[in-house]
Amino acid sequence: MIESGVTVRVKRQAMGCDWELILCGGDRGYLLDAADEAFEEVQRLEEQLSIFVPTSEVSYINALAASQPVCVEPRLFGLIESAARISGETEGAFDITAGSLVDLWRSAEAGVPPSEAIATALDSCGMHKVALDSENRTIRFSHPDTRLNLGAIGKGYAVYQVAELLRERGINNGLIHAGRSTVYALGNPPDDDAWTVGIANPTKPGERIGTAKLKDKAISTSGSHERFVEIDGVRYSHIIDPRTGWPAEGLLSVCVITDDPAESDALSTAFFVLGRDKAEKYCSNHEDISAILVSEGVEITRIGMEVFS
Ligand code: ADP
Ligand code: MG
Repeated sequence: MIESGVTVRVKRQAMGCDWELILCGGDRGYLLDAADEAFEEVQRLEEQLSIFVPTSEVSYINALAASQPVCVEPRLFGLIESAARISGETEGAFDITAGSLVDLWRSAEAGVPPSEAIATALDSCGMHKVALDSENRTIRFSHPDTRLNLGAIGKGYAVYQVAELLRERGINNGLIHAGRSTVYALGNPPDDDAWTVGIANPTKPGERIGTAKLKDKAISTSGSHERFVEIDGVRYSHIIDPRTGWPAEGLLSVCVITDDPAESDALSTAFFVLGRDKAEKYCSNHEDISAILVSEGVEITRIGMEVFS
């Protein structure tokens, strides 16, 4: 249990969503200062990782890495290496090089992109188009149109860095919330042995399909019910299947629970692309990962049931 009962709740806008920190501990001023520092870190990470910030390190890599090796900041290099590993483990369903495809579909309101445009964008995708030199910490693209997009792992990575920062300041109990995308349960709340996190029903806003009890674990959600592009009255997911070049379909939402918030973020996107059977197969080889998948027709599949109710 936590020594004395102070809890602070701080909200900020960052990375295109509403962040919230709930911190528990002994001293209110200390917790508020730590929250300020944590949000400064999120801001700094957004300025480093965002493709929407022209001066970000990722924008710089995207502009230069096709013509020369580009040296990458150590933690970002580690993140790109993790992304490459997850891409390999998910048959390329999770792919940070799908930037050109993501851009193509994001700007497609006027009509489904022509098949030639999809084929051209597809040609620039795939981790095999990226050479990572870990000795010199450089990245180089082998295709002129390859573009990194960390949209499916960046928020989870920022949540990880915030959790580390809080632990370094001796804060071991709290809840870190990056919109509805990734939530990290730091330790436990004052009155319970784990945080209870609701799992949203993708078809009924405000309703839950269940809860998860989490301690030192992350939960990430990917779904197409909030973010999509509508073309001729048809909704297409903002998550793209990098193997076909088309928006992923079949599932309404995916939640993944694991220790590392960057990994849960990446895997929720990967499972959305892979579908139920392959997600189940992945989890059968990774016992530390639990998931809850909702398919069209609102069929619910729970994998690793012990954390859900
Ligand atoms: P959210 O941002 O709502 O948490 P996700 O974590 O699922 O959603 O990330 C989706 C974002 O990731 C997309 O908006 C796009 O920028 C990028 N993306 C889309 N498809 C893929 C994919 N197959 N692999 C990696 N990133 C993707
Ligand atoms: Mg994700």
